[in-house]
Formats: sequence, structure tokens, C-alpha cells
Amino acid sequence: MNVAKMLLFLFIYLFAFYTWLFISWENEWTRFLGANLLSLAGSAVSFAVLFKTYRVLSQKYRCFWLLLSISALFYFAGYSVCFYYQTILSVAMPYPGWADYMWLTAYFFALAAFLYAIILRGISVSVKPLFFNLVLFMVVVITLSLQYIVEPMFIEAGYTTTSTFVSIAYPLLDLCVLVAIMICYYLASSRYERILMVFCGTGFVVQLATDLIYVYWGGDSFADMGTFLDPLWQINLLLQGTAGLYAQKHLKEVKIDLSFYKTVNYSVLPYIGTMFLLTLIVYENYADMDILLKGCIIALLLIILRQFVIMKKNKQLMDEYKHLAYHDPLTGLGNRAKFKEDIGEICGHSSADNKAALLLIDLDRFKGINDTLGHQAGDCLLKELSEKLEGEITEKGTVYRIGGDEFLVLLPKIGSTSDALVIAEGILANSQQPLSVQGNEFVVTPSIGISIYPEHGQDTETLFRNADAAMYRAKEKGKNNYQVYNSALNDLLHERMQIEIGLRRAVEENGFTLYYQPKVDLYSKKIVGMEALIRWKHPEWGLVPPFKFISIAEETGQIISIGEWVLREACKQTKRWQVEGLPLIGVSVNVSVQQLEQNNFIQTVTDILKETNLSARFLELEITESVIQDLKRSTEILQDLREMGVRTSIDDFGTGYSSLSVIKTLPINVIKIDKSFIDDLDNPANQDLLKAIIWIGKSLGLQVIVEGVEEEQQMNMLLEYNCQFAQGYLFGKPMPREEFGKLLSGQQRDI
Ligand code: C2E
Ligand code: MG
Ligand code: MG
Repeated sequence: MNVAKMLLFLFIYLFAFYTWLFISWENEWTRFLGANLLSLAGSAVSFAVLFKTYRVLSQKYRCFWLLLSISALFYFAGYSVCFYYQTILSVAMPYPGWADYMWLTAYFFALAAFLYAIILRGISVSVKPLFFNLVLFMVVVITLSLQYIVEPMFIEAGYTTTSTFVSIAYPLLDLCVLVAIMICYYLASSRYERILMVFCGTGFVVQLATDLIYVYWGGDSFADMGTFLDPLWQINLLLQGTAGLYAQKHLKEVKIDLSFYKTVNYSVLPYIGTMFLLTLIVYENYADMDILLKGCIIALLLIILRQFVIMKKNKQLMDEYKHLAYHDPLTGLGNRAKFKEDIGEICGHSSADNKAALLLIDLDRFKGINDTLGHQAGDCLLKELSEKLEGEITEKGTVYRIGGDEFLVLLPKIGSTSDALVIAEGILANSQQPLSVQGNEFVVTPSIGISIYPEHGQDTETLFRNADAAMYRAKEKGKNNYQVYNSALNDLLHERMQIEIGLRRAVEENGFTLYYQPKVDLYSKKIVGMEALIRWKHPEWGLVPPFKFISIAEETGQIISIGEWVLREACKQTKRWQVEGLPLIGVSVNVSVQQLEQNNFIQTVTDILKETNLSARFLELEITESVIQDLKRSTEILQDLREMGVRTSIDDFGTGYSSLSVIKTLPINVIKIDKSFIDDLDNPANQDLLKAIIWIGKSLGLQVIVEGVEEEQQMNMLLEYNCQFAQGYLFGKPMPREEFGKLLSGQQRDI
């Protein structure tokens, strides 16, 4: 059954009901029979549909439907009592009797359902004013009813207190439910939810009208069933059922977004009600009112006025607060919380054929820029970048900033995955255009991970996790590219975890070894130094090269103990060769920033040198340009090392963001020009660049060494540019210590 069929059923049912009442009007028993049976049928259908809605929906919101279905069940129970008295026993029903108690319970369950829907959004501070308003509203309505209905109509007419109470309880409860529905309507965050509330609200408006007519019209015939009012009650029941059907089709959940600023609209109602009451008091008693009472009423009106002003201020504050809570103050973009809400909306309400895409963007090497140029420049860059991104995405989606240099693009409606790829390509292409910050131009490239809804996940967590995995992959693939999630990435993540676990064991069980690569003097062709390079001896995977695990060890902090082991082992081995009478050459050890940042780093180096008895001048520490992140501290450490006699070099020189002015002030001895600068020396522009870097290094009074020399032609070029030192496969690959020892002793014979 769908919504349209249910509405058609409602019309046919009403028509049949009225026809029955009309034709059987003269015969009371048949009239009662028809009215009882048709009412039983109506509430049964409503119960069945609502209960199915409860069963079909899987979220916690299903309880709302459970409460509504219980309400329908109590209606059914009430009609069963009627049936028993009127049709089986053929006697008038007692008033108030069991039927009334059943129906009142049904009203209570309906009220509970809507209150539950409101509370479900979280009992926050803002729920309290909401209930306060509800109570205030009820006080106004009850006062008016007592004054104008109960007093004149019932008490004076001589009705018992219970029957008066029961008669009044019906419309009062209707009103409560209507107010609750109204709140739900205002708090609804989507069109679907509002339509749902329109179904329920219409039903209860009809019910309120019917109950009021019943109370007014009832007179001494309260207990009668089988009047023309009976079909009207069924309208509410069946409209609730229709709402259930609608929810089954369109909603995964009744999601009601409770935020105080939205409640302001309706929260004026109780105050208006109170003002109405005050006006009535003045109107009815004006002649008898003394000055005290008049003053009191004016004071009350002023308090209400003040309350309006406070409410307005509150609304403003809440708007500001909401803006702050959902936006990133630097760029003005939506933040992680906003993203979660928006994606939740897609995951919760999208139909199966709607595709959405999540692009997780992480800027490459942004930390370097931030730290070298200062945070202010970094902030400017982020702002420019976010504007650029927003300009590209426009109305196709939304851009969020969810962390330092992490952005998210949510494309809520895409035809196919390729739509997302086109956007990613656009972002990559645009990132090639330099951004200007404080007079300097920068190219900041992004790595983008993409996940698609619903293919790669149907909830926020999974989609985000998968976009993150894809982004990691993009980083691994050399940055400045995009990757779409696929299940193989899970394998990669798994591998990463295995590495992490394996490393832990390797640290404990000494599962590493050092390889040594010669550094040569191009003029004398002699080995003048060596670089110690770590290898991980894995029991299953064999020798694992550092690029596979160093970054992970850095992230997990394991690099500290690994680095210490490398330093100790390299110093120990160098000393051993010296003792064996091999040429006195120094050893270079790679040091990660994390190690350098340790408070006891200098102490560790001192201890190791002492322990291994190696003279400090034979140790060189290779650090990367990222040490410039904390220039002041790094300078102090480098200075301390210099004072100890330990040499230092900048590894992979030219690949970071350090400026020459910074390099100039750093107390270092060597720059190691990165392999990428000698990779394509056929190109004259590259030749000039290499020449310039060598020249600059020398001008700064530093020793210059070029890494990654593989061909003779490269070596000749270096000689031409007066570069004396080099390292590379041409002279020797990294090798185990035994092999390197042999190489060194060979050289010894030459000397
Ligand atoms: P790096 O310090 O720049 O080391 C030079 C890398 O270039 C080594 O790779 C070396 O094998 C490779 N290489 C040397 N000459 C050539 C050549 O002619 N052609 C080519 N294609 N490659 C050449 P490896 O041993 O895989 O190390 C990679 C990186 O891992 C190192 O780069 C260093 O940053 C890091 N690393 C190695 N050992 C350690 C360590 O003990 N601690 C830390 N923190 N990092 C280390
Ligand atoms: Mg190195
Ligand atoms: Mg290097």
C-alpha cells in the first residue's frame, strides 16, 4: 500500500461509513453494529500500518512509530469496549467508562510519541525552554477552558467532576499533541519531515474539531456511538497511518533537528496567550480593578515585553554561536561538525540511485611552508587556497576545512564517479598556478582521496575513512595526484598495520641491520666517507628498504629507539674499522626531526660517542630541511653538535622550502644536493640550476656533495662544475658491513 492508495482508502471508507450511518439511522442496533465494526476496522488498519513502519525502519527513531502504533492499539481497544456494550450487550455505555480510559490512554501515547521525537534530538539546554513554553501554553488553555467552558457548561449544568474532567481531557490532550506536532514541524530539517508532520497535524486538527463538537454537542448523550461524528475520528487515525506509509518510503528516520533558534518562532505563542489572558482579565473586571491590580498588570505586560527583547537577543546569540560552531574562523568555510551534519543528511535521506562524492584534500608539504614562513603567511595561504577551492566548486558542492591543511569537498549529487574525477583534476590543474603570499609566489599541490556514496560506504564514518585511505595512497604515489578508493586500499592499510606491528617486534628483537654506501672524492677517486642506511630484516618479507617503514616509524614514534640503535651501531662499526686499521673515514647517520626534537638528543649522542669510543669528528648527522620548522631550537641543537665536534649536513637539499637566508645562518657543514637535480642533465636549464646550487653551497662556505650519481657523464659534469664530492651507485651501492669493510681495506692497500 502506498500513500495515494491509503488516501483513496480513507475516502472510500468515509463514504461507506456515512452511507451506512445514513441508511441504518432508524435502527439503533444496526447503526451501532456498523459504527462499531467500521471504527474497529479503521483503528486496526491504522495500527497495522504504523506497526509495520516501526518494524521496517531500523533506526532508533522507530520508537516514535512504536508509540504511535500503541496509541492506535488503544483506540482499537476503546472501540472493542463499545462493541461489547452496544452490540453484544445492547446497553448504553457507562460514561465515563473503560472505552474513555482506553481512548485517553491512546491520546497519551500519541503525545508521548511526538514528545519523544522532540527529545530524541538530544536533551539539551534548549529543550527546557521548549517544555516550559508547552506548560505555559497549557496553563493558558486550561484557564480559558475552566473559565468559559467548564464553569458555565458543566458545573452549572450539574455534571459530575469525573465526567467533566473526561470530556475536557479530550480536546486538551488534542491541543497538547498539536503543539508538540507544531514544534516537530518547526524543528524539521527536511521537506519530508515537514510533510510527515502535515499529515499528523491535519489528523489532530480534525480530531480536535470533532472532540470540541462532541463536548459542546454531547449534552446528556456523551455515551452515544454511532453518530455522524464517528467517521471523523477515523480521519485522524488513518492520516497517521498515511504518515507511516510516507515515512516507510521517504524517511529512514524521523530526524528532528532541535536548535533553539528555530524554536523562537513558536515560543512567542505562550506569551501571546498570557497577554490574551491579561486582556481578558482587564476586559471582564475593568470596573472593579483597583490601582494595585492595574499596576500589577502593567508590570506583567512590561515583563513580557522584556522577555521578547531577551528572546530576540538570544536568537542573535544562538545564530552567532551556531555560526561559530559550524564554521572555521580562518577561512569561513564549514568545519568538521558542519560536514558531519551535511553528509549525515545525504546518508540518511538519499535514495539508492543518488550518488555523492567525498574529496579529501591534504596539502603537500604545507607544514614546511607554515614553519619556514611563519604561521601568519601560512594562514594567508590557507585563506587564498580556500577561496580558490570555493571558486572552483561553486554550486556543484560544498568545501569544508576540517584540519590544519585538510579540506573536504562534498559533491552531494553526481551522475557517475567520473564527475568527481573531473573536479579532482580541475583542483590539481588549478593548484599549479602559484599563489601570492606576502610578495612571494608559491605552488601548493594537493593530494586528493575520493570515496563515493553509496559504493564505498553508506555512513559518514566509512566514507570518510575510505577517502582518507585513498588520500594516503595519493601521498604514497608521490603526492600531487588523486586516488579513488578501492577495496585494495584496505589491503594497503592492513599492510601498514602489519608494518607497525612488525616494527614493534623488530625494535624489541633487534631486527635491523645497517648498510653502508661510500662517499667519494671525485678528484682523488678515494672513499672519504660513508652513509649508514638502515635495512629491516623481516623473517618473511626479507630485507625491507627504509622508504617502506621510516615514515610509519616516524608517525608512531618508534623512530626514536630505531634511530638510537642506528647511531650506536654506526659509531660502533666505524670504530671497529678504525681499530682494524682501515682508513679513518667518517660515518653519516640519518636523523629524523622527531629524534632531534627529543630533549635528551644531545645527551644521547654524547653518551653513544663515549660508549663506542668514537671521536666526534668521525660522526656526521644528516638532517632534512624540515628541521627548519623550529628554527630557534634546531639552531641551538646544531650549535651544540658543532661544539661537540660532530659534523652536520642538510640531506636532500633543494627539495624542501628552506630559504638561502635560513641556510646561511644554520651552523651546518655540508649540503647534500638531492638526486633529482642530476637526473636530467641533458637539459641545459637543469645544468645551470645544478651549477648554481653547487656555487651557492660553496659560497656559503659549506662542503657540497651530490647524491645519486649513477653515470659517468654525470660525474664529468660535476667535475666540470668543481664539485668535489659525490655519492651514488656509480661508486658503490649501499652494502652490508662485511662487503664495505672489504671495499675499505682495498682502498687501504691503494694508499
Ligand atoms: P637518503 O638519506 O637521501 O639516502 C640516500 C638514498 O638514496 C638511499 O636509499 C640510497 O640507497 C639511495 N641512493 C644512493 N645512491 C643512489 C643512486 O645512485 N641511485 C639511486 N636511485 N638511489 C641512490 P635508501 O637506503 O633506500 O634510503 C632511503 C632514505 O631512507 C634515506 O634517504 C633516508 O632519508 C632514509 N633513511 C635510511 N636510513 C635511515 C635511518 O637510519 N634513519 C632515518 N631517519 N632515515 C633513514
Ligand atoms: Mg641521507
Ligand atoms: Mg638524500
